[in-house]
Amino acid sequence: MGSDHDKDVVDCREALHRIYHFLDGELTSERRVRIEAHLDGCSPCLNVFGFEAELRRLVADKCRDAVPEGLRARIADAIDHEHDHTQVDTGPRGEMAGKDASEVVGGLPA
Ligand SMILES: [Zn+2]
Repeated sequence: MGSDHDKDVVDCREALHRIYHFLDGELTSERRVRIEAHLDGCSPCLNVFGFEAELRRLVADKCRDAVPEGLRARIADAIDHEHDHTQVDTGPRGEMAGKDASEVVGGLPA
């Protein structure tokens, strides 16, 4: 970690890691552009981003001061797991992408 200055491409791991900072407005505009570019071409990350942004809106609506630590941890955990799935299924590229788990399971013969 710490040697990310030498590449222009933001990978999924970095994009997801920075989503929080992005939403908190803690990134430089240069980084924001890179994250946006990644989200533009990566729907799994975009979904996570949309989910997180929506969640923040809801939370901000309810409690303007702080997000409970427990909730934050749960969200981070959920995102971690979600992204694990998308990265594990690298075999048949594009085959699994864009489907959700229930759809895949539902499509199997009973
Ligand atoms: Zn991605």
